[in-house]
Amino acid sequence: MNKKRVYSGIRATGRLHLGNYFGAVKGMLELQDQYDCVFSVVDLHAITTPYDPKTLKQNVRDVVLDYLAAGLDPERCLIEIQSLVPEHTELAYLLSTIYPVSRLEDLPTYKDKKAQYPKYVNMGLLFYPVLMAADIMLYKAELVPVGRDQEPHLEVTREIARKFNDMFPSAGSGQVTFPEPQRFKTPAEYVPSLTGEGKMGKSTEGSYINLTDDLKTIKKRLAAVPTDSGELGGDIPATGGVATLFTLLQILNKEDLYNKYAKDYRDKKIRYSEMKEELSNAIYEELRPLQQKRAEIESSFDLDNMIKKHTEICRQVASQTLKEVKQKMGLT
Ligand code: ADP
Repeated sequence: MNKKRVYSGIRATGRLHLGNYFGAVKGMLELQDQYDCVFSVVDLHAITTPYDPKTLKQNVRDVVLDYLAAGLDPERCLIEIQSLVPEHTELAYLLSTIYPVSRLEDLPTYKDKKAQYPKYVNMGLLFYPVLMAADIMLYKAELVPVGRDQEPHLEVTREIARKFNDMFPSAGSGQVTFPEPQRFKTPAEYVPSLTGEGKMGKSTEGSYINLTDDLKTIKKRLAAVPTDSGELGGDIPATGGVATLFTLLQILNKEDLYNKYAKDYRDKKIRYSEMKEELSNAIYEELRPLQQKRAEIESSFDLDNMIKKHTEICRQVASQTLKEVKQKMGLT
């Protein structure tokens, strides 16, 4: 790995949805040709919220399949399963010793998850951003293609990198151990929820459309998006279900449809059932090639062999970083 490095990961909590695709995977696709990229299925992050051990392996497999179907090319990037590279957790522990607990307790994702699962507030959940920092820093990544919701976690990563570099300077060379990674932004860095509240996310039922959804399912999911009477007029709302419908048209680059329905909205004659029908078709049109590719990969590609090879390469790079960190921390 000689070029600028890129790292990103998606939790193994189910199939990928439009938010993951437009907010993260599109960025990965853009970067895989220019840089040394590691794209991970972060299964250790998936077990910090309630999950079923029986389906976790299948979830991991589904994310890998979705990655490949979306166009990640195992010849041009490394695909990693986080738990197969134990250096992640070891580095996370080492980094946790230089970071304050109080800062982690203040992070929005921790607070949200605490509210969502009040009976499942575990150490791993609090530790999540430190593990995420370790994920990125293990590969000394400089660019991280993730959605806007991950910005606070990236800030933590930069803080940890800065602190490590200050506390454990490299002797003589003047070169710091860790770069301060930047977020690589996609045009759709925030895909709103179908419920009209917050972001599209795997853990909020009714909020998402999966990349593997067929047309009937997409229509059903969009039918549930809350709208208004269609007679309000004025500016298109910035939040709520109607805003989500318009945002999805924008994300899909359906400018003509967007303009048509924006005019109808202003003229107080918008028909949401028709808009949802056209939006469903546009989404399906985008997803159909991915679904065809996924079916081909599922029937012919040797996933296990690819993972085995990629894990070996990832561990070589990871173990070098870990060795350097331990030396600098005086542990060898
Ligand atoms: P989820 O929130 O659905 O559980 P993850 O936490 O695994 O998904 O996030 C995986 C990646 O997808 C991250 O880069 C995250 O920023 C991105 N992502 C998730 N939801 C959205 C969204 N609604 N809009 C934009 N990006 C998103």
